[in-house]
Amino acid sequence: MEERKVVLVTGGSRGIGKEVAKVYAENGYDVAINYVSDKTDVEGIEKEFKDLGVKCLMVKADVSNGEDVEKMVEEVISEFGKIDVLVNNAGITKDTLLMRMSEEDFDKVIEINLKGTYLVTKQVTKYMMKKRQGSIINLASVVGVVGNAGQCNYSASKAGIIGFTKSVAKELASRNIRANAVAPGFIETDMTNVLKDEVKESINAQIPLKRMGNAREVAEVIYFLGSEKSSYITGQVINIDGGMVM
Ligand code: NAP
Repeated sequence: MEERKVVLVTGGSRGIGKEVAKVYAENGYDVAINYVSDKTDVEGIEKEFKDLGVKCLMVKADVSNGEDVEKMVEEVISEFGKIDVLVNNAGITKDTLLMRMSEEDFDKVIEINLKGTYLVTKQVTKYMMKKRQGSIINLASVVGVVGNAGQCNYSASKAGIIGFTKSVAKELASRNIRANAVAPGFIETDMTNVLKDEVKESINAQIPLKRMGNAREVAEVIYFLGSEKSSYITGQVINIDGGMVM
């Protein structure tokens, strides 16, 4: 029997990350799901994935903490022996206008979104390099490409992720490791549920497809980028935004 592949999804307990883990599980991958909050329903999620017929390891770690990340990756390796695909999905927003943005809120978003992506990628690629194969998919955002008023911290973190992805793609291509980013527009999750209805309506009006996307529509592209079907694609940023940015 062919050995099952393994995916590690950071921030996989909700929203886009959970849907990503689900698509991989449906395609026969064992899944390691990272989360950070004490409120996360660890047992419920484990059961949901075991019902899909794959192994599921829930790993608690703050991706912005180097020690946590090292332990998380060691735990995944000791359970599964390898990581074929890494999805750096964990992310937060702390939106406000530049003039009102505290240094703390600026730093927090950069630390979790950008530094977290660096810390996890660094640990995981150690093992990918030994195997001379792997695929990394980082969650950027369209606002990392075009900017957004009220999101200077978040946009900077996502623009940083794009530069980081391209550099890693160049560094690791010779080891047969690919790195790509996806840049979603507005996707229905807890992150966008906080928006008022009138804000959502005005956003939808600006989207050529006239609606927000759903987590599944992002997860399917991430699955493609992790699979052999995208074997000649590296260093790219794929917008998933209903045509918002073109
Ligand atoms: P979400 O529903 O708010 O879920 C965020 C996930 O990140 C949760 O699983 C959360 O874990 C985890 N997380 C937060 N801080 C963490 C930390 N320090 N360490 C480890 N995990 C942490 O978010 P989402 O909307 O699915 O977004 C997922 C990714 O897509 C993010 O990178 C986001 O920036 C990006 N994105 C989203 C949209 C959108 O419209 N939704 C658009 C563009 C890009 P707990 O459950 O344990 O709290």
